[in-house]
Amino acid sequence: MKRSNSEQLFETAKQYLPGGVNSPVRAFKSVDGAPLFIKKGDGVNIWDEDDNQFIDFCCSWGPLILGHNNPNVREKVIETLHNGSSFGAPTRLENELAALVVENNPVIDKIRFCSSGTEAVMSALRLARGYSGKNKIVKFEGCYHGHVDAMLVKAGSGLVTFGESTSAGIPEGYTNETLVLPLNDLDAVKACFAEWGHDIACVIIEPIPANNGLLLQDKKFLQGLRELCTENNILLFFDEVISGFRVAFGGASEYYGITPDIVSYGKIIGGGLPVGAYGARKEIMACVAPDGPVYQAGTLSGNPVAMAAGIAQLEECIKDGFYEDQEERTQFFVNKINAHAKEKGFLFEMFTIGSIFWMAFSDKLAIRRADEIDGDMTSFKDLYGNLLENGVYVGPSGYEVGFVSQAHTKEILAEAADKFCAALDATFAK
Ligand SMILES: *Cc1c(COP(=O)(O)O)cnc(C)c1O
Repeated sequence: MKRSNSEQLFETAKQYLPGGVNSPVRAFKSVDGAPLFIKKGDGVNIWDEDDNQFIDFCCSWGPLILGHNNPNVREKVIETLHNGSSFGAPTRLENELAALVVENNPVIDKIRFCSSGTEAVMSALRLARGYSGKNKIVKFEGCYHGHVDAMLVKAGSGLVTFGESTSAGIPEGYTNETLVLPLNDLDAVKACFAEWGHDIACVIIEPIPANNGLLLQDKKFLQGLRELCTENNILLFFDEVISGFRVAFGGASEYYGITPDIVSYGKIIGGGLPVGAYGARKEIMACVAPDGPVYQAGTLSGNPVAMAAGIAQLEECIKDGFYEDQEERTQFFVNKINAHAKEKGFLFEMFTIGSIFWMAFSDKLAIRRADEIDGDMTSFKDLYGNLLENGVYVGPSGYEVGFVSQAHTKEILAEAADKFCAALDATFAK
């Protein structure tokens, strides 16, 4: 495969951008070679600057649930753009996207739009603290909540620990109000609440942890967490930036039938443009400025072009049968690959929920905690190279999940599954 144009562009990028990228995982540090520079996407396909064509399962890391260059999204964006791109004043489109989300979601009464998932989480954590008057936040090891200072932490040793920062530039004071617990472990939550419960503002969790492998939680754990939060008067915050509008219109909360107190969204809600959002029931949202004392603002918040893209995308997602169809096609794809791996006796399993999948080099039937992941990514690296050679693009790290979009028809998925199987054969032949 010729990659010289991408290689040249990467050399230039490194002159101007740290690591040549604007977000670290794009730099291909976990796989071989320079990152591919993408020049075009349409439906399931992307093309790089060397004119290689790929079936794409990265889908911009999740936002593109309708695939690339969806005609409805594109036309609505262009139509909106003809009237200008930003006003810093209210527009009708903000009402439309807000109504579409709120009217079809039993969990939230009001929503505030911002421009990224990180911003949504950061703002909603401030809201949780402002509403409750308490300081501490509980997070789980293996969940990602954007690059919010207080969330860039890992657990120390022990069941309940204060977060240790995972990035330079974060003062201890920013992380020592964050408690870190293992996933899927109610005893750890109980122990934590017994000691610190009186000062915990909220528990934040990815109800479907999908940023560090796909660590599917027992439904009983999520239900237990809800009950413990209620009993201890602690807010439950579902970070649905990846799972929102992905596994159901109402995200994981609808999928599992569990009601959180605060929710954050991002990715899909913007139709491929930068939108984040957070929502809650009326009395909590009443604390947000200008109604209440919790300050939060944004020059480009509720940007009309981004709202237009979100509306066009969500109008498609809300149609009858959309999520059943997504899940059915994904199952078809995953089953084909898992059957092949099993028949060949490969140490490999694809885990899946909704239209998300994750490739694990493991014989475990379930992986629910970060420390259960085999950190040796040598096989993934091999597989990644073989997938690229076979015309398949996935996120360039073994900790990242893949996404199936509406554009991935059964025919394309059958073809893609054959390519995955061939790539697995090559990987395990070594
Ligand atoms: C992607 C993601 C974020 C961060 O969103 P950005 O738009 O990248 O800032 C936060 N939380 C979860 C669960 C995510 O998947």
